[in-house]
Amino acid sequence: MAPWQWTIHETLEHLQRGEISAVEVTRAYLDRVEAFDSLLHAYLTVTPEAALAQAQEADARWAAWRRDPSTPLPSLNGIPLAIKDVICVRGVRCTCGSRILENFFPPYEATAVARLREAGAVFLGKTNTDEFGMGSSTENSAFGPTRNPWNPARVPGGSSGGSAAAVAADLCAGALGTDTGGSVRQPAAMCGVVGLKPTYGRVSRYGLVAYGSSLDQIGPITKDVQDAALLLQLIAGPDPRDATSWPAPVPDYTRALIPDLRGVRVGVPPEYFIPGMQPEVEQAVRKAIEVLAELGAEVIEVSLPHTRYALPTYYLIAPAEASANLARYDSVKYGLRIRGETIWDTYRLTRGNGFGPEVKRRIMLGTYALSAGYYDAYYLKAQKVRTLIRQDFERAFERVDVIVCPTSPTTAFRLGERTADPLQMYLADIFTITVNLAGICGISAPCGFDGDGLPIGLQILGPALGEEKILRVAYAYEQATPWHHQRPPIDATLQGRSRD
Ligand code: GLN
Repeated sequence: MAPWQWTIHETLEHLQRGEISAVEVTRAYLDRVEAFDSLLHAYLTVTPEAALAQAQEADARWAAWRRDPSTPLPSLNGIPLAIKDVICVRGVRCTCGSRILENFFPPYEATAVARLREAGAVFLGKTNTDEFGMGSSTENSAFGPTRNPWNPARVPGGSSGGSAAAVAADLCAGALGTDTGGSVRQPAAMCGVVGLKPTYGRVSRYGLVAYGSSLDQIGPITKDVQDAALLLQLIAGPDPRDATSWPAPVPDYTRALIPDLRGVRVGVPPEYFIPGMQPEVEQAVRKAIEVLAELGAEVIEVSLPHTRYALPTYYLIAPAEASANLARYDSVKYGLRIRGETIWDTYRLTRGNGFGPEVKRRIMLGTYALSAGYYDAYYLKAQKVRTLIRQDFERAFERVDVIVCPTSPTTAFRLGERTADPLQMYLADIFTITVNLAGICGISAPCGFDGDGLPIGLQILGPALGEEKILRVAYAYEQATPWHHQRPPIDATLQGRSRD
Protein backbone atom coordinates (compact mmCIF):
# COMPACT_ATOMS: atom_id res chain seq x y z
CA MET A 1 0.00 0.00 0.00
CA ALA A 2 1.17 3.53 -0.76
CA PRO A 3 1.61 5.88 2.23
CA TRP A 4 -1.32 8.02 1.16
CA GLN A 5 -3.63 5.02 1.40
CA TRP A 6 -2.95 4.47 5.08
CA THR A 7 -5.38 5.53 7.74
CA ILE A 8 -4.09 7.83 10.47
CA HIS A 9 -3.54 4.96 12.90
CA GLU A 10 -1.71 2.92 10.26
CA THR A 11 0.49 5.91 9.37
CA LEU A 12 1.37 6.34 13.04
CA GLU A 13 2.46 2.69 13.19
CA HIS A 14 4.70 3.10 10.14
CA LEU A 15 6.18 6.32 11.53
CA GLN A 16 6.76 4.70 14.88
CA ARG A 17 8.58 1.75 13.34
CA GLY A 18 10.77 4.24 11.48
CA GLU A 19 9.82 2.78 8.08
CA ILE A 20 9.01 6.21 6.70
CA SER A 21 9.51 9.81 7.83
CA ALA A 22 6.87 12.45 8.38
CA VAL A 23 8.48 14.49 5.59
CA GLU A 24 8.12 11.53 3.20
CA VAL A 25 4.47 11.02 4.14
CA THR A 26 3.77 14.74 3.75
CA ARG A 27 5.52 14.86 0.38
CA ALA A 28 3.51 11.86 -0.81
CA TYR A 29 0.28 13.71 0.00
CA LEU A 30 1.48 17.00 -1.50
CA ASP A 31 2.44 15.19 -4.74
CA ARG A 32 -1.01 13.67 -4.87
CA VAL A 33 -2.67 17.02 -4.29
CA GLU A 34 -0.59 18.37 -7.16
CA ALA A 35 -1.64 15.48 -9.43
CA PHE A 36 -5.35 15.31 -8.61
CA ASP A 37 -6.57 18.56 -7.19
CA SER A 38 -6.84 20.35 -10.53
CA LEU A 39 -9.56 17.79 -11.28
CA LEU A 40 -11.24 17.64 -7.86
CA HIS A 41 -10.69 21.15 -6.45
CA ALA A 42 -10.88 19.90 -2.89
CA TYR A 43 -8.44 22.56 -1.69
CA LEU A 44 -8.76 26.34 -1.75
CA THR A 45 -5.28 26.89 -0.32
CA VAL A 46 -2.34 24.48 -0.14
CA THR A 47 0.55 25.35 2.18
CA PRO A 48 3.43 23.06 1.14
CA GLU A 49 6.27 25.01 2.78
CA ALA A 50 4.55 25.25 6.15
CA ALA A 51 3.51 21.58 5.92
CA LEU A 52 7.05 20.39 5.18
CA ALA A 53 8.45 22.54 7.99
CA GLN A 54 5.90 21.03 10.42
CA ALA A 55 6.79 17.55 9.14
CA GLN A 56 10.50 18.24 9.77
CA GLU A 57 9.71 19.27 13.33
CA ALA A 58 7.70 16.06 13.73
CA ASP A 59 10.64 14.02 12.46
CA ALA A 60 12.91 15.75 14.97
CA ARG A 61 10.48 14.72 17.72
CA TRP A 62 10.47 11.12 16.42
CA ALA A 63 14.27 11.15 16.42
CA ALA A 64 14.42 12.49 19.99
CA TRP A 65 11.94 9.81 21.07
CA ARG A 66 14.01 7.12 19.37
CA ARG A 67 17.12 8.25 21.21
CA ASP A 68 15.22 8.32 24.49
CA PRO A 69 11.80 6.64 24.59
CA SER A 70 10.94 8.46 27.79
CA THR A 71 10.72 11.72 25.76
CA PRO A 72 7.04 12.68 25.53
CA LEU A 73 5.74 12.23 22.02
CA PRO A 74 2.56 13.98 20.87
CA SER A 75 -0.12 11.54 19.72
CA LEU A 76 -0.53 12.69 16.10
CA ASN A 77 3.12 13.35 15.39
CA GLY A 78 3.61 13.92 11.64
CA ILE A 79 0.06 13.21 10.42
CA PRO A 80 -0.96 15.40 7.42
CA LEU A 81 -4.44 16.85 7.79
CA ALA A 82 -6.67 19.25 5.87
CA ILE A 83 -8.87 21.90 7.48
CA LYS A 84 -12.18 23.21 6.15
CA ASP A 85 -11.81 26.83 5.14
CA VAL A 86 -14.25 28.16 7.75
CA ILE A 87 -11.87 27.17 10.57
CA CYS A 88 -8.99 29.53 11.35
CA VAL A 89 -5.40 28.37 11.05
CA ARG A 90 -3.12 31.17 12.22
CA GLY A 91 -1.57 33.09 9.34
CA VAL A 92 -3.22 30.99 6.62
CA ARG A 93 -5.82 32.57 4.35
CA CYS A 94 -9.37 31.76 5.50
CA THR A 95 -11.94 32.55 2.81
CA CYS A 96 -15.04 30.68 4.04
CA GLY A 97 -15.64 30.09 0.34
CA SER A 98 -16.58 33.76 0.04
CA ARG A 99 -15.31 36.73 -1.93
CA ILE A 100 -15.88 38.88 1.13
CA LEU A 101 -13.04 37.07 2.95
CA GLU A 102 -10.92 36.34 -0.11
CA ASN A 103 -7.87 38.01 1.46
CA PHE A 104 -8.52 37.39 5.15
CA PHE A 105 -5.50 36.04 7.04
CA PRO A 106 -6.59 35.28 10.63
CA PRO A 107 -4.10 36.38 13.25
CA TYR A 108 -5.36 33.66 15.61
CA GLU A 109 -6.14 29.97 15.55
CA ALA A 110 -9.19 27.83 16.26
CA THR A 111 -8.89 25.82 19.48
CA ALA A 112 -9.52 22.58 17.56
CA VAL A 113 -6.63 23.39 15.20
CA ALA A 114 -4.35 24.50 18.04
CA ARG A 115 -4.98 21.18 19.79
CA LEU A 116 -4.13 19.21 16.65
CA ARG A 117 -1.00 21.32 16.18
CA GLU A 118 0.02 20.59 19.77
CA ALA A 119 -0.51 16.91 19.00
CA GLY A 120 2.08 17.19 16.21
CA ALA A 121 -0.24 17.28 13.17
CA VAL A 122 0.91 18.68 9.81
CA PHE A 123 -1.49 21.03 8.02
CA LEU A 124 -1.57 20.58 4.24
CA GLY A 125 -4.05 23.37 3.54
CA LYS A 126 -7.63 24.62 3.61
CA THR A 127 -10.50 22.82 1.91
CA ASN A 128 -13.35 24.04 -0.23
CA THR A 129 -16.77 24.78 1.25
CA ASP A 130 -20.12 26.25 0.35
CA GLU A 131 -19.93 29.94 1.18
CA PHE A 132 -19.94 30.22 5.01
CA GLY A 133 -21.10 26.59 5.11
CA MET A 134 -24.42 27.40 3.43
CA GLY A 135 -25.18 24.58 1.07
CA SER A 136 -25.28 20.84 0.54
CA SER A 137 -23.09 20.35 -2.54
CA THR A 138 -20.06 22.70 -2.30
CA GLU A 139 -21.43 24.38 -5.45
CA ASN A 140 -22.05 27.57 -3.43
CA SER A 141 -18.30 28.18 -3.08
CA ALA A 142 -17.33 31.50 -4.65
CA PHE A 143 -14.24 29.74 -5.99
CA GLY A 144 -15.97 26.96 -7.94
CA PRO A 145 -17.27 23.54 -6.91
CA THR A 146 -15.43 20.47 -5.66
CA ARG A 147 -15.98 17.26 -7.59
CA ASN A 148 -16.75 13.83 -6.18
CA PRO A 149 -13.75 11.46 -6.41
CA TRP A 150 -16.10 8.55 -7.16
CA ASN A 151 -17.37 10.36 -10.23
CA PRO A 152 -16.24 13.90 -11.09
CA ALA A 153 -19.58 14.66 -12.75
CA ARG A 154 -21.17 14.42 -9.29
CA VAL A 155 -21.08 16.72 -6.28
CA PRO A 156 -19.17 15.64 -3.16
CA GLY A 157 -22.02 16.81 -0.90
CA GLY A 158 -21.61 19.80 1.32
CA SER A 159 -20.81 22.03 2.84
CA SER A 160 -17.59 20.27 3.90
CA GLY A 161 -17.32 18.76 0.39
CA GLY A 162 -13.66 19.75 0.05
CA SER A 163 -12.67 17.92 3.24
CA ALA A 164 -14.71 14.82 2.36
CA ALA A 165 -13.38 14.66 -1.21
CA ALA A 166 -9.80 15.19 0.04
CA VAL A 167 -10.11 12.28 2.49
CA ALA A 168 -11.82 10.01 -0.06
CA ALA A 169 -9.23 10.73 -2.77
CA ASP A 170 -6.32 10.30 -0.33
CA LEU A 171 -5.28 13.94 -0.62
CA CYS A 172 -4.85 14.05 3.19
CA ALA A 173 -4.82 11.50 6.02
CA GLY A 174 -7.85 13.05 7.70
CA ALA A 175 -9.67 16.37 7.86
CA LEU A 176 -11.83 18.68 9.91
CA GLY A 177 -15.22 19.75 8.66
CA THR A 178 -18.06 21.63 10.28
CA ASP A 179 -21.65 20.53 10.71
CA THR A 180 -24.49 23.03 11.18
CA GLY A 181 -27.16 20.88 9.54
CA GLY A 182 -25.29 17.85 8.26
CA SER A 183 -22.21 19.31 6.60
CA VAL A 184 -19.81 16.73 8.04
CA ARG A 185 -22.04 13.65 7.77
CA GLN A 186 -23.72 14.25 4.40
CA PRO A 187 -20.51 14.85 2.36
CA ALA A 188 -18.84 11.94 4.23
CA ALA A 189 -21.74 9.74 3.07
CA MET A 190 -21.54 10.99 -0.52
CA CYS A 191 -17.77 10.48 -0.66
CA GLY A 192 -17.71 7.07 1.07
CA VAL A 193 -15.79 8.11 4.20
CA VAL A 194 -16.52 8.53 7.92
CA GLY A 195 -17.84 11.83 9.32
CA LEU A 196 -18.67 12.55 12.96
CA LYS A 197 -20.75 15.45 14.25
CA PRO A 198 -20.07 15.82 17.98
CA THR A 199 -22.64 16.86 20.58
CA TYR A 200 -23.17 20.62 20.60
CA GLY A 201 -20.51 21.99 22.94
CA ARG A 202 -18.27 18.91 22.87
CA VAL A 203 -15.76 20.69 20.60
CA SER A 204 -14.89 24.36 21.08
CA ARG A 205 -16.20 26.72 18.39
CA TYR A 206 -13.49 29.27 19.10
CA GLY A 207 -11.94 30.17 15.75
CA LEU A 208 -14.76 28.61 13.73
CA VAL A 209 -16.31 31.37 11.63
CA ALA A 210 -19.91 31.48 12.86
CA TYR A 211 -22.82 30.43 10.64
CA GLY A 212 -25.60 29.29 13.02
CA SER A 213 -24.09 29.64 16.48
CA SER A 214 -26.59 27.38 18.27
CA LEU A 215 -26.06 24.62 15.68
CA ASP A 216 -22.40 24.73 14.56
CA GLN A 217 -19.93 22.01 15.54
CA ILE A 218 -16.49 21.04 14.21
CA GLY A 219 -16.10 17.32 13.47
CA PRO A 220 -13.59 14.88 11.98
CA ILE A 221 -13.81 13.37 8.49
CA THR A 222 -11.65 10.27 8.22
CA LYS A 223 -10.91 7.05 6.35
CA ASP A 224 -12.19 4.86 9.17
CA VAL A 225 -13.96 4.94 12.54
CA GLN A 226 -10.82 4.51 14.63
CA ASP A 227 -9.36 7.64 13.03
CA ALA A 228 -12.54 9.58 13.83
CA ALA A 229 -12.14 8.53 17.48
CA LEU A 230 -8.47 9.62 17.46
CA LEU A 231 -9.22 13.09 16.09
CA LEU A 232 -12.28 13.60 18.29
CA GLN A 233 -10.19 12.68 21.33
CA LEU A 234 -7.86 15.58 20.58
CA ILE A 235 -10.31 18.30 19.59
CA ALA A 236 -12.99 17.59 22.23
CA GLY A 237 -13.12 19.14 25.68
CA PRO A 238 -13.88 22.33 27.52
CA ASP A 239 -12.36 25.61 26.36
CA PRO A 240 -12.40 28.85 28.37
CA ARG A 241 -12.68 30.70 25.04
CA ASP A 242 -16.06 29.12 24.22
CA ALA A 243 -18.70 29.57 26.91
CA THR A 244 -20.90 26.96 25.21
CA SER A 245 -18.27 24.21 25.44
CA TRP A 246 -19.21 21.33 27.77
CA PRO A 247 -17.26 21.17 31.02
CA ALA A 248 -17.58 17.35 31.06
CA PRO A 249 -14.25 15.51 30.88
CA VAL A 250 -13.43 13.71 27.62
CA PRO A 251 -13.60 9.91 27.87
CA ASP A 252 -11.08 7.64 26.16
CA TYR A 253 -12.92 7.15 22.87
CA THR A 254 -10.65 4.38 21.62
CA ARG A 255 -11.94 2.19 24.47
CA ALA A 256 -15.39 2.36 22.86
CA LEU A 257 -14.11 0.54 19.77
CA ILE A 258 -15.44 -2.95 20.50
CA PRO A 259 -16.21 -5.27 17.57
CA ASP A 260 -19.52 -6.67 18.86
CA LEU A 261 -22.86 -5.17 19.83
CA ARG A 262 -24.13 -7.42 22.56
CA GLY A 263 -26.41 -5.52 24.91
CA VAL A 264 -26.73 -2.53 22.56
CA ARG A 265 -30.27 -1.35 21.78
CA VAL A 266 -30.60 0.11 18.29
CA GLY A 267 -33.64 2.24 17.45
CA VAL A 268 -35.05 2.46 13.93
CA PRO A 269 -37.39 5.42 13.26
CA PRO A 270 -39.95 4.86 10.47
CA GLU A 271 -40.00 8.66 9.91
CA TYR A 272 -36.55 8.37 8.30
CA PHE A 273 -37.66 5.96 5.60
CA ILE A 274 -39.70 8.26 3.42
CA PRO A 275 -41.38 7.87 0.05
CA GLY A 276 -39.22 9.42 -2.64
CA MET A 277 -35.90 8.37 -1.19
CA GLN A 278 -33.58 6.44 -3.45
CA PRO A 279 -34.55 2.73 -3.13
CA GLU A 280 -30.91 1.60 -3.12
CA VAL A 281 -30.25 3.84 -0.09
CA GLU A 282 -33.14 2.29 1.82
CA GLN A 283 -32.03 -1.24 0.86
CA ALA A 284 -28.44 -0.63 1.94
CA VAL A 285 -29.49 0.87 5.28
CA ARG A 286 -31.97 -1.94 6.01
CA LYS A 287 -29.26 -4.46 5.20
CA ALA A 288 -26.90 -2.62 7.58
CA ILE A 289 -29.51 -2.89 10.34
CA GLU A 290 -29.56 -6.68 9.78
CA VAL A 291 -25.79 -6.72 10.21
CA LEU A 292 -26.13 -4.81 13.50
CA ALA A 293 -28.60 -7.45 14.69
CA GLU A 294 -26.21 -10.23 13.66
CA LEU A 295 -23.53 -8.50 15.75
CA GLY A 296 -25.75 -8.84 18.80
CA ALA A 297 -27.74 -5.60 18.83
CA GLU A 298 -31.39 -5.56 19.78
CA VAL A 299 -33.34 -3.69 17.10
CA ILE A 300 -36.36 -1.69 18.30
CA GLU A 301 -38.72 0.61 16.39
CA VAL A 302 -38.80 4.14 17.82
CA SER A 303 -40.90 7.10 16.74
CA LEU A 304 -39.64 10.65 16.19
CA PRO A 305 -43.01 12.23 15.31
CA HIS A 306 -41.83 15.83 14.84
CA THR A 307 -39.29 14.92 12.18
CA ARG A 308 -41.48 16.26 9.39
CA TYR A 309 -41.24 19.78 10.80
CA ALA A 310 -37.44 19.70 10.98
CA LEU A 311 -36.69 21.13 7.56
CA PRO A 312 -38.79 24.33 7.90
CA THR A 313 -37.63 24.71 11.52
CA TYR A 314 -33.99 24.51 10.53
CA TYR A 315 -34.43 26.81 7.55
CA LEU A 316 -35.85 29.49 9.85
CA ILE A 317 -33.39 29.16 12.74
CA ALA A 318 -30.20 28.72 10.69
CA PRO A 319 -30.83 31.75 8.43
CA ALA A 320 -31.96 33.84 11.43
CA GLU A 321 -28.68 33.16 13.20
CA ALA A 322 -26.75 33.60 9.95
CA SER A 323 -28.30 36.98 9.25
CA ALA A 324 -27.12 38.19 12.65
CA ASN A 325 -23.67 36.58 12.38
CA LEU A 326 -23.00 37.95 8.91
CA ALA A 327 -23.73 41.52 9.97
CA ARG A 328 -20.06 41.71 11.04
CA TYR A 329 -18.88 41.87 7.41
CA ASP A 330 -19.23 45.62 7.27
CA SER A 331 -16.04 46.33 5.27
CA VAL A 332 -14.60 48.25 8.21
CA LYS A 333 -12.71 45.82 10.42
CA TYR A 334 -11.56 43.20 7.90
CA GLY A 335 -12.46 41.55 4.63
CA LEU A 336 -13.45 43.09 1.34
CA ARG A 337 -14.00 46.84 1.08
CA ILE A 338 -15.39 48.50 -2.02
CA ARG A 339 -15.50 52.21 -1.34
CA GLY A 340 -18.58 54.21 -2.32
CA GLU A 341 -19.51 57.89 -2.02
CA THR A 342 -21.07 57.41 1.41
CA ILE A 343 -20.74 54.77 4.12
CA TRP A 344 -24.09 53.36 2.99
CA ASP A 345 -22.78 52.99 -0.57
CA THR A 346 -19.70 51.27 0.82
CA TYR A 347 -21.85 48.76 2.74
CA ARG A 348 -24.06 48.17 -0.29
CA LEU A 349 -21.19 47.72 -2.72
CA THR A 350 -19.12 45.55 -0.39
CA ARG A 351 -21.91 43.27 0.76
CA GLY A 352 -23.64 43.30 -2.64
CA ASN A 353 -20.47 42.13 -4.39
CA GLY A 354 -18.88 40.18 -1.56
CA PHE A 355 -21.71 37.74 -0.79
CA GLY A 356 -23.02 35.13 -3.22
CA PRO A 357 -26.72 34.49 -4.01
CA GLU A 358 -27.34 31.76 -1.42
CA VAL A 359 -25.84 33.83 1.38
CA LYS A 360 -28.01 36.78 0.37
CA ARG A 361 -31.06 34.52 0.32
CA ARG A 362 -30.27 33.36 3.87
CA ILE A 363 -29.72 36.92 5.11
CA MET A 364 -33.08 37.98 3.67
CA LEU A 365 -34.92 34.92 5.04
CA GLY A 366 -33.32 35.35 8.45
CA THR A 367 -33.90 39.07 8.68
CA TYR A 368 -37.53 38.56 7.72
CA ALA A 369 -38.04 35.80 10.29
CA LEU A 370 -36.55 38.00 13.02
CA SER A 371 -38.32 41.22 12.10
CA ALA A 372 -40.91 42.86 14.34
CA GLY A 373 -44.35 41.52 13.53
CA TYR A 374 -43.03 38.24 12.07
CA TYR A 375 -40.79 37.15 14.95
CA ASP A 376 -43.55 35.34 16.86
CA ALA A 377 -44.98 33.67 13.80
CA TYR A 378 -41.65 32.38 12.48
CA TYR A 379 -38.60 32.52 14.71
CA LEU A 380 -40.33 31.96 18.05
CA LYS A 381 -42.50 29.21 16.64
CA ALA A 382 -39.46 27.52 15.13
CA GLN A 383 -37.75 27.61 18.52
CA LYS A 384 -40.77 25.89 20.08
CA VAL A 385 -40.79 23.19 17.42
CA ARG A 386 -37.05 22.77 18.00
CA THR A 387 -37.83 21.89 21.62
CA LEU A 388 -40.37 19.29 20.47
CA ILE A 389 -37.78 17.73 18.16
CA ARG A 390 -35.27 17.58 21.02
CA GLN A 391 -37.88 15.97 23.27
CA ASP A 392 -38.62 13.33 20.59
CA PHE A 393 -35.00 12.27 20.83
CA GLU A 394 -34.90 12.41 24.61
CA ARG A 395 -37.89 10.09 24.78
CA ALA A 396 -36.42 7.72 22.18
CA PHE A 397 -33.08 7.56 24.00
CA GLU A 398 -34.86 6.38 27.13
CA ARG A 399 -35.53 3.15 25.21
CA VAL A 400 -32.49 2.77 22.95
CA ASP A 401 -28.76 3.51 23.00
CA VAL A 402 -28.48 4.71 19.40
CA ILE A 403 -30.77 5.40 16.44
CA VAL A 404 -29.87 4.33 12.92
CA CYS A 405 -31.15 5.77 9.65
CA PRO A 406 -29.79 6.90 6.28
CA THR A 407 -27.47 9.92 6.22
CA SER A 408 -28.83 11.28 2.95
CA PRO A 409 -31.98 10.37 0.98
CA THR A 410 -29.92 10.01 -2.22
CA THR A 411 -26.37 9.34 -3.30
CA ALA A 412 -24.29 12.13 -4.85
CA PHE A 413 -26.29 14.08 -7.44
CA ARG A 414 -24.95 15.63 -10.62
CA LEU A 415 -23.26 19.03 -10.58
CA GLY A 416 -25.82 21.67 -11.52
CA GLU A 417 -28.78 19.34 -10.97
CA ARG A 418 -30.18 21.22 -7.96
CA THR A 419 -28.63 24.67 -8.12
CA ALA A 420 -31.67 26.25 -9.71
CA ASP A 421 -34.06 25.01 -7.02
CA PRO A 422 -33.10 25.86 -3.43
CA LEU A 423 -35.81 23.60 -2.00
CA GLN A 424 -34.41 20.57 -3.82
CA MET A 425 -31.01 21.44 -2.36
CA TYR A 426 -32.44 21.84 1.16
CA LEU A 427 -34.04 18.39 0.90
CA ALA A 428 -30.56 16.85 0.84
CA ASP A 429 -30.37 17.72 4.57
CA ILE A 430 -33.65 16.12 5.61
CA PHE A 431 -32.03 13.29 7.63
CA THR A 432 -29.19 15.29 9.18
CA ILE A 433 -30.60 18.60 10.45
CA THR A 434 -32.63 17.12 13.33
CA VAL A 435 -29.39 16.19 15.08
CA ASN A 436 -28.19 19.80 15.09
CA LEU A 437 -31.57 21.09 16.22
CA ALA A 438 -31.50 18.62 19.12
CA GLY A 439 -27.83 19.29 19.91
CA ILE A 440 -27.01 15.56 19.94
CA CYS A 441 -24.27 13.59 18.13
CA GLY A 442 -24.18 11.54 14.94
CA ILE A 443 -21.77 9.67 12.70
CA SER A 444 -21.97 8.58 9.07
CA ALA A 445 -20.12 5.46 7.95
CA PRO A 446 -20.05 3.82 4.49
CA CYS A 447 -22.67 1.06 4.04
CA GLY A 448 -22.66 0.22 0.35
CA PHE A 449 -22.92 1.55 -3.18
CA ASP A 450 -25.74 2.29 -5.60
CA GLY A 451 -26.01 0.95 -9.15
CA ASP A 452 -23.80 3.81 -10.42
CA GLY A 453 -21.02 2.90 -7.99
CA LEU A 454 -21.70 5.86 -5.70
CA PRO A 455 -21.28 5.44 -1.93
CA ILE A 456 -24.17 5.24 0.55
CA GLY A 457 -23.91 6.37 4.19
CA LEU A 458 -25.35 4.79 7.33
CA GLN A 459 -26.14 7.35 10.01
CA ILE A 460 -25.90 6.44 13.70
CA LEU A 461 -27.29 8.97 16.18
CA GLY A 462 -26.57 9.14 19.88
CA PRO A 463 -27.78 11.20 22.84
CA ALA A 464 -25.94 14.28 24.11
CA LEU A 465 -22.37 13.24 24.98
CA GLY A 466 -23.10 9.76 23.58
CA GLU A 467 -20.08 9.77 21.24
CA GLU A 468 -18.79 6.49 22.72
CA LYS A 469 -22.04 4.77 21.79
CA ILE A 470 -22.08 5.89 18.17
CA LEU A 471 -18.39 5.13 17.77
CA ARG A 472 -18.91 1.63 19.14
CA VAL A 473 -21.78 0.84 16.76
CA ALA A 474 -20.00 2.40 13.76
CA TYR A 475 -16.80 0.51 14.57
CA ALA A 476 -18.47 -2.85 15.00
CA TYR A 477 -20.36 -2.36 11.73
CA GLU A 478 -17.24 -1.24 9.89
CA GLN A 479 -15.20 -4.20 11.12
CA ALA A 480 -17.91 -6.59 9.91
CA THR A 481 -18.23 -5.09 6.42
CA PRO A 482 -15.88 -4.37 3.49
CA TRP A 483 -16.99 -0.87 2.50
CA HIS A 484 -14.23 1.20 4.07
CA HIS A 485 -11.60 -0.67 2.05
CA GLN A 486 -13.06 0.54 -1.25
CA ARG A 487 -11.24 3.35 -3.02
CA PRO A 488 -12.57 5.76 -5.66
CA PRO A 489 -11.24 5.13 -9.16
CA ILE A 490 -9.72 8.57 -9.63
CA ASP A 491 -6.45 7.36 -11.11
CA ALA A 492 -8.50 5.85 -13.96
CA THR A 493 -10.67 8.97 -14.21
CA LEU A 494 -7.62 11.15 -14.75
CA GLN A 495 -6.65 8.96 -17.66
CA GLY A 496 -9.89 9.95 -19.34
CA ARG A 497 -12.15 7.09 -18.37
CA SER A 498 -14.79 9.35 -16.84
CA ARG A 499 -18.33 8.11 -16.30
CA ASP A 500 -21.66 9.84 -17.04
N1 GLN B 1 -26.96 22.28 3.99
C1 GLN B 1 -27.28 22.92 5.23
C2 GLN B 1 -27.32 24.42 5.05
O1 GLN B 1 -27.15 24.85 3.98
C3 GLN B 1 -26.28 22.51 6.27
C4 GLN B 1 -24.99 23.19 6.13
C5 GLN B 1 -24.02 22.91 7.22
O2 GLN B 1 -24.18 21.97 7.98
N2 GLN B 1 -23.05 23.80 7.33
O3 GLN B 1 -27.54 25.16 5.97
